[in-house]
Formats: sequence, C-alpha cells, structure tokens
Amino acid sequence: MNSYCDALMEVTVRPNVTMMSGHGSWLIDNHGQRYLDFVQGWAVNCLGHTPAVIADAIAAQARTLISCSPAFYNAPMMQLAEQIALHSGLHKVFFACSGAEANEGAIKLARKFGSLHRNGAFEIITLENSFHGRTLAAMSASGKPQWQDLFEPKVPGFRKVPINDIDAIAAAINANTVAVMLEPVQGEAGVVAADINYLQALRELTRARGVLLILDEIQTGVGRTGSLFAYQRAGIVPDIFTLGKGLGGGVPLAALVAHADVSCFDHGDQGGTFSGNPLTTAVGCAVMNEVTQPEFLNNVHTSGIYFREQLTALSKQFALGAVRGDGLLIALEIPANNASAIAARAFDLGFLINATRPNILRFMPALNVTREEIDQAVELLQAALATAELSAA
Ligand SMILES: *Cc1c(COP(=O)(O)O)cnc(C)c1O
Repeated sequence: MNSYCDALMEVTVRPNVTMMSGHGSWLIDNHGQRYLDFVQGWAVNCLGHTPAVIADAIAAQARTLISCSPAFYNAPMMQLAEQIALHSGLHKVFFACSGAEANEGAIKLARKFGSLHRNGAFEIITLENSFHGRTLAAMSASGKPQWQDLFEPKVPGFRKVPINDIDAIAAAINANTVAVMLEPVQGEAGVVAADINYLQALRELTRARGVLLILDEIQTGVGRTGSLFAYQRAGIVPDIFTLGKGLGGGVPLAALVAHADVSCFDHGDQGGTFSGNPLTTAVGCAVMNEVTQPEFLNNVHTSGIYFREQLTALSKQFALGAVRGDGLLIALEIPANNASAIAARAFDLGFLINATRPNILRFMPALNVTREEIDQAVELLQAALATAELSAA
C-alpha cells in the first residue's frame, strides 16, 4: 500500500503513509499504525485530535449557518471577538484563516497607523531567525536565513536585529520606524524565548519612542506556554498581536488583535472572504471555552514541568543538551546534530516529534496531554535515542 499522489504539488517530504484518523494524542495511519502525536499539526490541535467539543461545535454550527459573508454579523464571530478582547486587554479583532494572513494584517495596520500618525513611518524592526509565515510580506518580515535570497525582490521595510538585545532595537529605531514585531518565543528557531525583562524593556522603549509593539502569538497563544497569551507572563500588553494555530483547534482560524487607539483601518482596507466565518469562529469559541476553564492552564503548566523533568533526565542519560521552553512548547538540544535522524527513528517507533533544526527536537503535545502519555513519550524517545545512537556509532 504505497502512499503517493502525483497530483499534489511537491512542497515537502512526506513519509509513505496516509493519515486516516486521530483521537486525543493519537494519530492512526492506513496500516493501522498508531502514533503518539507530540507535533499535533504544529501546535494546532491544542485539545488533541477530534475532541468532542470541537466535533460538536462543527456539527451544530454546520446545521445552523456555515457562511454568510464577512459583510454581515454572525453570532460566533461576535462571541469569539468578545472573548478574545475580554481576556487579552485589547479591544478590536479581525479574523483571518492563517497565521501569515493575520501577520500580513498586522503589518498593514502598522503601516496605516504610520501613515496617519507617524509622518508616513513604515519600517518594522523584526528579529533574526524569526518566523512570521509564508506570504511575501510575512516572509520578508521573517529572519529565517534560508529565505534570505528567495522570491526576490522582497517586500521592503523590515530591519532585522538579534533577539534579547534591547540596545540593538534602540539603535535601529529611526524616524521611519513604526513598529517592532517579534514572537514571545521563537518556535521555528528552536524554542528561543524573548526574556521577560527584555519584553518589559521593549514595552517601555517602544512606548517612549512612539513605536508600536506587535507580538506574533501564533504559536505561543491560546495556552501553549501555560498562560493564555505568552505576553501575560511578562506583565505587558502589546499594541497589536496575532493568533493562529491553536485558536482553531485544528480548523483554519487566525486573528489580528489591536488596541482601540491603533485600530485604524478604513472600510475597504482589510477584509477576506472567510473573515469571521461562523463555522470556524464557532470552533474558536469552543476552544476558548475549554482553555479558559479554571484548571486548564494550570494543568498545561504542571504537565510542562513534569515533561521537562523527564526530558532533563533523558538528556543526562544520553549526554544531550539543554531542555528549553515553558508550558508545552519545549525543545531539547541535540549536540550531535542528528535531530532529524532521531525524529525519523521516533516516527518508525510510532512517536511524532519535530526537528526544527539539526540540533533541536521540538515537542508540542496536546495541551490536555496526560501524565501517562508523557511517560509513554519519554519511553519512546528513549528507544529512539538508543537506536539512533547505535546507528550513528
Ligand atoms: C505557524 C506560524 C506562523 C504562520 O502561520 P500559518 O498559519 O502557517 O500561516 C506565523 N508565525 C508563527 C510564530 C508561527 O508559528
């Protein structure tokens, strides 16, 4: 039973299986092989695969209203916007279908703000090794070295500085600067956190210099790091932030969120056929309801601590590197640079993990992952490390 499809554009390497179904932390292929899934669609399935609350929300909304165009209010769209505003401390929400589209909106909003209030300032300072998505502007904003020479000419107006260097940002701000944009934790770069005191200094600096602070919370938002939004851990509030991935729990949903003072789009500046689609925003409401239950985030936090302890023990056993991350966005350094081989070995053993770089394994399990599943994951990783070590020797 070969899995191959000539009609699909070849944009990535795919293993020779077809994924058929998923439940909770488990994904099942066409051979009946079960995989313990610690990738979860890249931190998308925050409640695991096919959770009942999402299936029910989809079914109920599908029988009520699937689409009515963004030119009308619909009930789930309004409810989700209010939930996000309530919990974020910001005021205005625009819904999109992908993280890149939300970031594209953030860039446009900042440029509009610059044209209205900052003498046409348009430059956005972003970070080296950052990842903001794959539209042309989002790629231009990103600091991914492999993208440096791709799809030239890029969208102009982005300056890159190193992370956790407040002086570099202070020096880069000039009369053309309208915003600083960054991920609270750089996920694709290998779970590299912006330090809490750096975020706090950045908030003060941007306020003092009249520059907007934009946070890309597409990977970190909706509970991933153990707080609803990662910026809350620093006790700051950005002017603009974006959500994606976990917000839809598996359906394509993203959001651009802005302070009322910054929310300056005129009619026609921003839109999208599926913006605020009732089917996807109904799922967003179901996700937000779950994630804001009293014990939910606390469990993410304690599960993360437990998992990191186990990983630290494994790291000692196999002489690996640091364990990084907060909540359930975690990385393990692999000094031998064979993270891809380990991830491939884990796949064969029925364990899904992601090598973001040759020396980084990243773990993004469902936020409601159980202790037993974490224990199983650690056993499977141990087996993968043992055999990957043998094959390297
Ligand atoms: C995944 C991701 C994006 C892009 O989201 P898409 O839905 O793939 O467009 C942007 N920023 C960050 C931090 C991400 O993790």
